[in-house]
Amino acid sequence: MTIRLDPTFLRELQEYGEGGFSECFNCGNCTAICPYTSDDYPFPRNMIRLVQIGGREKVRGSIDPWLCYYCGDCSETCPRGAEPGEIMMSLRRWLTAQYDWTGLARKFYTSEVWEIGSMVVLGLLVILTAVFFHAPIVTDRVELNTFAPVEFIHTADWIMAGFLVFFITTNVLRMHKFIMRDGVNERIPLKLYLTEAWHLVVHFATQKRWAQCEEGKAKRNWSWIAHMLLVSGYVLMLVIIIFFLKWFQVDEIYPIWHPQRWLGYYATIVLVFGAARAIIGRIRKTLQMHRFSHPSDWIFPVLLLVVTLTGIFQHTFRYLGLPLATYYTYVVHLAFVAPMLILEVPFGKWSHLYYRPLAVYFERIRARAKEVALVGQPAAAD
Ligand code: SF4
Ligand code: SF4
Repeated sequence: MTIRLDPTFLRELQEYGEGGFSECFNCGNCTAICPYTSDDYPFPRNMIRLVQIGGREKVRGSIDPWLCYYCGDCSETCPRGAEPGEIMMSLRRWLTAQYDWTGLARKFYTSEVWEIGSMVVLGLLVILTAVFFHAPIVTDRVELNTFAPVEFIHTADWIMAGFLVFFITTNVLRMHKFIMRDGVNERIPLKLYLTEAWHLVVHFATQKRWAQCEEGKAKRNWSWIAHMLLVSGYVLMLVIIIFFLKWFQVDEIYPIWHPQRWLGYYATIVLVFGAARAIIGRIRKTLQMHRFSHPSDWIFPVLLLVVTLTGIFQHTFRYLGLPLATYYTYVVHLAFVAPMLILEVPFGKWSHLYYRPLAVYFERIRARAKEVALVGQPAAAD
C-alpha cells in the first residue's frame, strides 16, 4: 500500500492527548521494553513513526493502538519524554472519532463544552419528561411503580437499547471497513469470520491481553482485575435494566437472602470500587497510565460513580419509607443513567470495551487469511 502523507495529521492528533509526537527520535527504547514487540514488528515505535510522517490512512487502518493497555513501561524508559504510552492512548481516542460517522465522538473528545453540554441537555430532558409525564404521586408510602410505572421505564429501556445497537453496529462497520477493506490486498474468506469468532468472545469476556501486559511485572497494579470486576458489575446492571427490570424495580421489599438483592449489592459494590479507584488513581497520578488525564478520562468514572451513588440513595430512601425522597432521587438517577448509556457507550470511552476485542478479532482473521493464501499458492519451482 502506498502511504499518502498528510502534514496536518500531527497537528490534529494533538487535540486528542498529550503525547510528545514530535519529541521521538526513534531510539527504540520503547520497542525494547514493550511486551507486544516481536522480532519483525517494532511496537509501538512503528506507529509513532507513521504519525510523524503523516500516515493518516495507514494509522486509521491499524489495530495497534487497541493492543496497547497502557502499562506505561515505554513512557518510563523514553529518554525524550515523548510519552509513547500516552501517544497510543491519544491514537485510541482519535480512532474512536474516526469510526464514528456522526461526528459526535470527535466533538466529545475535542470539546468539553460539547461533551458536558450534551449530557446536561439529555439529563434535563429526562427530568422534564418526569415532571410532565409522571404518574400519580403516592405520599403516605413508597410506591415507585405508581410514580414511574415499570412498563413505561422498560419501554424506554428498549428504545435506548435499539439506539445503542444502531450506533454501535454502524460504527463497528466503519471500523471494519478501515481495518479489513481499505488498502488490504489479500482476499478474506467469509468463513474466517465464523471460525475466528471465538477470539472475539474470549477477548471481550476476559480482555486477557491486559493480563498478559501485567505479567512479569515486579510490582503488579491489579488494573486488569479491577477492570474485570467493574465490567462484571456494569454488564450485570445493563442486563438487569434491559431484560429483567420488572423483576428488579418492584415496590415489595424482598428478604435479605433474596438473589435480587444480592445481585444488586454485588453490582453496586464493584461499580463504586472500580469508579472510585479510577478517580483516586487519576488524582494521585502514581501509575504511569494515570499521569495524563484527558477530560474524557474523568467523565467516564465520575458519571459511573454518580449513577451508582444516586442508585444507593434511592434504594436507602425506599427502605426508610420516604416516598418523595425516593421519587426525586430516582429521577436524578435516571438523569445520569441516560447520558451515560446513550452518549458514553457509543461515542465516549466506554466504546473501547468493544473496539479492543474487535481489533484482536480482525487481526486474527487477517493473519489466518494470509496463511490460507500462502497455502493456496503454487510451490516455487526448484
Ligand atoms: S523511547 Fe521515546 S524517543 Fe525512543 S523510539 Fe520510543 S518514543 Fe521515540
Ligand atoms: S504502554 Fe505498555 S503496551 Fe502500550 S506501547 Fe507502551 S509498553 Fe507497549
